[in-house]
Amino acid sequence: MISPTNWASWLNWMPGADHVLDYELQREKCDTILDNTEWLFCLDFNIFSRAKNLAQKLQQLKCTRVLIDHHQQPDTVNFEYGVSCTAKSSTCEMIYDLIVASGNEHKIDIPIAECLYAGVMADTGSFRFPAASAGVHEMVAHLKEKGLEHTKVHENIYDNFLENRLRFIGHVLLHRMEVYYEYNTALIAISKKDLLRYQVKTGDTEGLVNYPLSIQGIKLAALVIDRDEERKWSFRSKGDFDTNSFARKYFEGGGHYNASGGRSNESLDKTIQKFMVAMKENSSLLQ
Ligand code: 5GP
Repeated sequence: MISPTNWASWLNWMPGADHVLDYELQREKCDTILDNTEWLFCLDFNIFSRAKNLAQKLQQLKCTRVLIDHHQQPDTVNFEYGVSCTAKSSTCEMIYDLIVASGNEHKIDIPIAECLYAGVMADTGSFRFPAASAGVHEMVAHLKEKGLEHTKVHENIYDNFLENRLRFIGHVLLHRMEVYYEYNTALIAISKKDLLRYQVKTGDTEGLVNYPLSIQGIKLAALVIDRDEERKWSFRSKGDFDTNSFARKYFEGGGHYNASGGRSNESLDKTIQKFMVAMKENSSLLQ
């Protein structure tokens, strides 16, 4: 298992996390493994560019690449086989389907159940998004029968932060969130200074974009973070506002209908200005 980048430390409780390689940190080792790989399963992304520094290597590989993903508009030419299904809640649900359909259901033990559950839980917003289908609940029921302790997974993911992360969220909601009621939109913009002040690490900003969406009447929530390499956008919507099209059109991004992301090489101020223009252009869709 290779991750293109590092990951949030609060994910390290996951069974097997100590076997995952970080491509940016262990490039040589990863390249050797990849060069000797026959079958490569590409999970939860559908275009090589999403894999950052790993993208070029993926392009050059001679092995058979299999796609398992649920995002919109897959770059199918780059995969020999695969399943791309936007109706699926998460890639973890698809992995579960694969295990069951291949007759390996009996191999699902508690560590595997915990990992599958964590992925489905996170991607469905704890089972509240529309993609939390009957099939998802059946899968969870099945994992429970196997002995899964779902409370443990929730606690490990949602009650496992350092104090500074909570203080950072407080600061951001108080000082960095703007609400544009006329457009049913809320925006959070986080500068490099904020990230440094609260020693924000990868993953600490996860879920932040959901807070403005909980305001009554807000249809579109946007979060932009001034990262070293780029300005990174997250978009969430309620109802019939298509964040995938919005992210693709204005911010070189994409994702799902109600949850997408994008990026910009411009300064934080410039990209915020661009967002304001985009919001106004989409005024009628935001009503
Ligand atoms: P998040 O806001 O949590 O980073 O991402 C929300 C969804 O949008 C995820 O499914 C993620 O894969 C997708 N996404 C985030 N950033 C980008 C991007 O720059 N390009 C594309 N195509 N998808 C993105």
